Amino acid sequence: MKIYTNIRFLTLVFAFASISIFSEGRDASAEVKIVTSIPDFAAIAKEIGGDKVVVESLAKGYQDPHFVDAKPIFITRLNQADLLVYNGLDLEIGWLPILITGARNSDIAAPAALGHYNASTSIKNVLEIPTAPVDRSIGDVHPGGNPHYMLDPRNGIPVARGIAARLIRMDPENASYYEENFKNFASTLRLKISEWETELKPFKGTKVVTYHKMWIYFTKWAGLTEAGYIEPKPGIPPSPSHVANLIKSMEKLQVKLIIAANFYPEKTASLVAEKTGAAFLSLPVLVEGRDGINTYTELFDAIVGEVTSALKDKTGSVKDSVYRHKE
Ligand SMILES: [Zn+2]
Repeated sequence: MKIYTNIRFLTLVFAFASISIFSEGRDASAEVKIVTSIPDFAAIAKEIGGDKVVVESLAKGYQDPHFVDAKPIFITRLNQADLLVYNGLDLEIGWLPILITGARNSDIAAPAALGHYNASTSIKNVLEIPTAPVDRSIGDVHPGGNPHYMLDPRNGIPVARGIAARLIRMDPENASYYEENFKNFASTLRLKISEWETELKPFKGTKVVTYHKMWIYFTKWAGLTEAGYIEPKPGIPPSPSHVANLIKSMEKLQVKLIIAANFYPEKTASLVAEKTGAAFLSLPVLVEGRDGINTYTELFDAIVGEVTSALKDKTGSVKDSVYRHKE
């Protein structure tokens, strides 16, 4: 601890003495300052970086990551960052680029900089890449593809690998430490993924309605089928006629579950649930999206746990057999 304190003190002295000394290179034994756009990346960076990093997420887990208020303090954070990790695919288009410009930090600003990590560049299975030109008439469609890839837990692994690779290059002295942490993270996550897949297996092909087109990575992985959306088009609020049609088609298709991120308004979804007899889940979709969810694994424990127990209650298949057994 003492060494760190001394280095911090010296860094401070150097910073006052000459800005150029401070900016020439990060001290190898000082902590790497990581700023992330969303808390999922912060949680993963903490697991990979351990005590060699300080991590801060700009967006909170209960906020809609499409729309985050660009606070002045965020500019300060980005100005001091060694590494920026963000989602890409235009998820943060409304708020992050302006903050990066304001921060005037060449270590993180340019896409080619070592400290600039667009995590979507590590994702191989980007879904829903538009084939036709994108304009506002089709709603809030992201031209690079659906950006909500972190809702497929398998995508946590390439992102963690990407963060580890940056840290290893930025702080080679601690390379084996980052490498080891990445291996532990990946093996734990792989084990959990197979557990979640076992829990989800009985519900393969079950139809669900979602609020925003945010769940495709999750539903594809989980083996669920999306049968409609509360939003008529991405980012467009539901109209009464859309809701009436949705109710009709849900009854026809016997949809038993509606899922929504917990930052969306609940009124319409719960009304539709009431009318159709489907269950409605308002779910956390980001780390820290609810108390007690502090890691990427805990996020999926919550989502998979709630989805499977709602489906057990609603689809009857599992419930029936349990009841029969009891009788
Ligand atoms: Zn979106």
